[in-house]
Amino acid sequence: MCAEPLYDISAARTDHQREYMEQLTRDGICIFCPEHVAEYHREPIEHHGEYWYVTKNDYPYAGAEAHYLIVPHAHVTSFDELPDAAGAELWAIKRMLKEQLAPLATATVERSGDMHYNGGSVAHLHTHFVALPAEPELTVRFKVSALGTSD
Ligand SMILES: [Zn+2]
Repeated sequence: MCAEPLYDISAARTDHQREYMEQLTRDGICIFCPEHVAEYHREPIEHHGEYWYVTKNDYPYAGAEAHYLIVPHAHVTSFDELPDAAGAELWAIKRMLKEQLAPLATATVERSGDMHYNGGSVAHLHTHFVALPAEPELTVRFKVSALGTSD
């Protein structure tokens, strides 16, 4: 098991998510590692690549039309721990999702490094890929730092 913390509980966005993260922390389970994702992540794997898999976020951001997570098979915390070939595959996956979601506009956020500073909740690297509604009722917001308010 990884010696680094697996979750930043303070980044949880709902009570259910917080309680689940606390349980996973006690059990030492990384929800995004391939040996655990099928059992602990609610949404199914929709695509298996050489370096990445694709699933929907169990906790989609408010206002997003669709919210995918593109997750490396390897337990890494930063994009630069992966080879350049993984970057090329990530690009191809983003292209595939964009084509599936057309004509909707999309946005991507990927946090690297210490989640206590980057605003993330799970240490295992993951790329958020959201589709934006043509007629939004609210702005989709990504938190990318640890401190401050959501406004
Ligand atoms: Zn992991």
